[in-house]
Amino acid sequence: MNIIIFGPNGSGKGTQGTLLKDKYHLAHIESGGIFREHIGKGTPLGKQAKAYMDRGDLVPDEITIPMVLETLQAHKDEGWLLDGFPRNPAQSERLWEALQKSGLKLDYVVEIQLPRQDAKNRIMGRRICAGNPNHPNNIFIEAIKPEGDKCRVCGQALSARSDDQDENAIDKRHNIYYDEQNGTLAAAYFYKKLAAEGKTRYIVLDGRGDIGTVKEKLLKELV
Ligand code: AMP
Repeated sequence: MNIIIFGPNGSGKGTQGTLLKDKYHLAHIESGGIFREHIGKGTPLGKQAKAYMDRGDLVPDEITIPMVLETLQAHKDEGWLLDGFPRNPAQSERLWEALQKSGLKLDYVVEIQLPRQDAKNRIMGRRICAGNPNHPNNIFIEAIKPEGDKCRVCGQALSARSDDQDENAIDKRHNIYYDEQNGTLAAAYFYKKLAAEGKTRYIVLDGRGDIGTVKEKLLKELV
């Protein structure tokens, strides 16, 4: 089983991706994670990629595409969940060509939809409980609003993660994601067209609501 998952930062892509990965026992291939691994090991590729990543820019296709295709090839027997790639139409096209060439199927493409402002509120409103980081608290989401400035579950102190509060960084990532001409949504729509021709299956998932509801919807869509 081979799956690509798309969703803006803040859409719950990580959570829903884990569900898919566990259900089908897939290798989780995350392009950002592969880059971070290279940076950690100090490889030449990591050194090249780091400057782009630090600025929040995309790493050039000449570096990214071969790196991802090579990783997919290495995991072709177990199947994979691809996350973070493709992020532009050229990457989509190259991936599709490579799959065709090696006779691999793309079983599902999942697009989690969430309006941009909702995604931003999810990130910026998130508050972390000192007692348990898994306690859900978000100042912008009515259903999980903290009690005053305390955790709604256990009453302990809350804090915000500094990287959740960097509005410029969030906007920059979302600019790339929501770009329907050249960005990640354009990359996703490449497969939507192929799905219309019966070449893959494209699942649109409404990302609003809580994690459990979205999970249920996703499971219903898988045949
Ligand atoms: P992520 O963890 O998915 O947010 O990725 C972290 C960073 O890695 C991104 O901000 C980019 O600089 C780089 N990156 C990850 N995936 C890609 C991709 N498909 N194309 C270009 N750059 C990427």
